[in-house]
Amino acid sequence: MDKKNVVLLGSTGSIGTNVLRVIESFPHQFAVVGLAAKRNVELLAEQVRRYAPRAVSVGEEERVFELKRLIGGADVEIFQGDAGLVELATMGGADILVSAVVGAVGLEPVLRAAERGIRIAIANKEPLVMAGKIIMGTARRCGARIVPIDSEHSAVFQCLNGTPTSAVRRIILTASGGPFYGKSRKELVDVTPAQALAHPTWQMGPKISIDSATLMNKGLEVIEAMWLFGVDVDRIDVLIHPQSAVHSLVEFVDGSIMAQIGAADMKLPIQYALTYPERVPTPFGTTNLADIGDLTFTRPEPGMFPCLDYAYEAARLGGTAPAALNAANEVAVAAFLRDDLPFLGIAEVIRAVLDKHENKTDPSLEEIKRTDGMTRAEAAAAVDRLGKVCS
Ligand code: MG
Repeated sequence: MDKKNVVLLGSTGSIGTNVLRVIESFPHQFAVVGLAAKRNVELLAEQVRRYAPRAVSVGEEERVFELKRLIGGADVEIFQGDAGLVELATMGGADILVSAVVGAVGLEPVLRAAERGIRIAIANKEPLVMAGKIIMGTARRCGARIVPIDSEHSAVFQCLNGTPTSAVRRIILTASGGPFYGKSRKELVDVTPAQALAHPTWQMGPKISIDSATLMNKGLEVIEAMWLFGVDVDRIDVLIHPQSAVHSLVEFVDGSIMAQIGAADMKLPIQYALTYPERVPTPFGTTNLADIGDLTFTRPEPGMFPCLDYAYEAARLGGTAPAALNAANEVAVAAFLRDDLPFLGIAEVIRAVLDKHENKTDPSLEEIKRTDGMTRAEAAAAVDRLGKVCS
């Protein structure tokens, strides 16, 4: 394999630091040429010293000065803000963009990288939820290969292994159920951010941990799968699988079901996304099925996880509805993490936003961005209303 130049957006987050550990394990295959972080300039400065990228970008512009102080005279170009992410995503000489930022901020850089026709290893699900049709269309037109990092989608990608969609009966995404699986709604009324952040099987950042507790993460993944694999939403099922060993399954028209099994370690799907189509011996987690013992699968109880239902609803509506769903969720989760909204209020904010949403079918990128902005304002107003009532 020729040495590949990697640009990593979101380098200080949970996925980002794992990406760097994978890259470090394959020094002859990969070089880091660009790194972007939102605010953790202390870690970013360490990464600059260690990986010597040509360029970096800092999300919060007031932290740029601090980064410059920390890296001293290092020979690295420094960009900032949302524009900085696009600068990095379109950097000359890059072979692979890894998008590991959180939220809608990843949309523009992913789209610009797709236009350049480079490999995109995508961990950032929100852009696909918001504008999957546009991103996949651009990737096809420009010859960009989008390889998923999300463990479920990596599993489906591996099970499909190029099989045409016409041979697929359904995709089955597995969900651990999160920290509150099996609890009653009454027990969830007073849940704190700390309880919601304690995921049973995966180590993840705060936004995705809360999404896992509400099962919105699975809902976003259903929409993500719909676009990545070109399968209708009603052919995508979710099963609760608390062991997180089977990462997802594909049922083919001939009745055969393929499952992908592996350790609950994000470095494995990251490695595959970077080395695809090759399989390379891994220094990371191995799986011993005898140690796991039982593998169990159950359907999510109807009505238990309203966020999952709302995601299906938005996926069926299509148009701008998934972008509205995503924006409302980002605002509600941030409010919950600030203690401004109770846990069950997250679903209520999304419900309120979807009820008011005027859907546009086949939206342009501009219309999607406008929906994102308008929905954030509406969701913030709903947080004010619901947060006060409940606290
Ligand atoms: Mg996942």
